[in-house]
Amino acid sequence: MPLTERSIIHVDMDAFYASVEQFDHPELRGLPVIVGGLGPRGVVSTCSYEARRFGVRSAMPTAQARRLCPVGVYLWPRMTRYEEVSAQVFEVFHEVTPLVEGLSLDEAFLDVGASLRLLGSIESIGRRIKEAIRERTGLVASVGMGPNKLLAKLAGEVAKPDGFRRIAAASAAQELAPLPVGRLWTVGKVTEQALHRLGIHTMGELAACDTARLAGALGRHASALQALARGEDARAVTPEQRELSVGAEHTFDVDLAELALAESWLLRHCERIAARARERGLAGRTVTVKLREPPFVTHTRQTQLAAPSAAAPAIYGVARSLLQAWWKAQRHPRLRLLGVSLSGFGERRQEDMFDVSKSHKEADALQDRINERFGSGSLVRAGVLRTRKQD
Ligand SMILES: [Mg+2]
Repeated sequence: MPLTERSIIHVDMDAFYASVEQFDHPELRGLPVIVGGLGPRGVVSTCSYEARRFGVRSAMPTAQARRLCPVGVYLWPRMTRYEEVSAQVFEVFHEVTPLVEGLSLDEAFLDVGASLRLLGSIESIGRRIKEAIRERTGLVASVGMGPNKLLAKLAGEVAKPDGFRRIAAASAAQELAPLPVGRLWTVGKVTEQALHRLGIHTMGELAACDTARLAGALGRHASALQALARGEDARAVTPEQRELSVGAEHTFDVDLAELALAESWLLRHCERIAARARERGLAGRTVTVKLREPPFVTHTRQTQLAAPSAAAPAIYGVARSLLQAWWKAQRHPRLRLLGVSLSGFGERRQEDMFDVSKSHKEADALQDRINERFGSGSLVRAGVLRTRKQD
């Protein structure tokens, strides 16, 4: 047995956002459900398997999805709700092992090596996780198992949806051989095309290719890539580390004397930190607003959210109250600096520590692009409009 052989489980919820919507709204079950940005430049975040039958895919422009699937049900994402469900799912993981590496709200690696003696085989642990998630959330998770991260993830992916599959070290090379090279998560579009130009389409062909020839096209990563194509992967599951806070602040060139303007800045900060928290899979409970009067007197105001969140509207809601309360208490309110931070990530922590999951980085980026393009723009506009009305 190679030294690096571990007992790794990869869990990924099937069509997560869309499944939550179908669970919460039973009338949507069996229908093509598309969750994403619904504005003119919106993109699909997640779609149900019913929608996939129409050719709809995540990261596709929503307009294109509407053409492919005009009968679909199109919904904006409800991040706060998805975070709630995610917390339940991660609770299940932590009951099995402390070695949980979250990749996103609905995906994680677990190293269960130390739990085998107590809980049984890797399959019985995997089955237990799948069933507990189903019982507590009503949702379906795909579970992949293997001697390392690469094989566990691939096992789960090839078995999706409702997947349950183990790839053992002994059969890894054989099982990987027919898979397209694009399935390796380190292989992006450019590398994939370079490989295709060399006549390499499958992992088997990649593994068997002459390393020197490969290095000519791909450079020094060639042999590492070949090791992955053979199913070799030495990376450990790295449990998330506590991140203390995520913040944003701005020092104004000209002191700010209008509440409406201060609120617009605050909203922009809140959206930025919400996006950053989500990108790291964090949900925080404590919101702190930092206010500096010219020249250097700094005040902080802090409050707790009802539940940990990484949603801009929730964070902004409490941050704005803090700002307004401070503002009203001043005789001549003036701001040189305004900042806001989110902390208190104790309840559920995830962190994308390695660039292991390209698709998930893309999914997170996608969520934030949606916000950038729509949520953000429309929120800012709504916020500014609201404050103007009050003038
Ligand atoms: Mg998923």
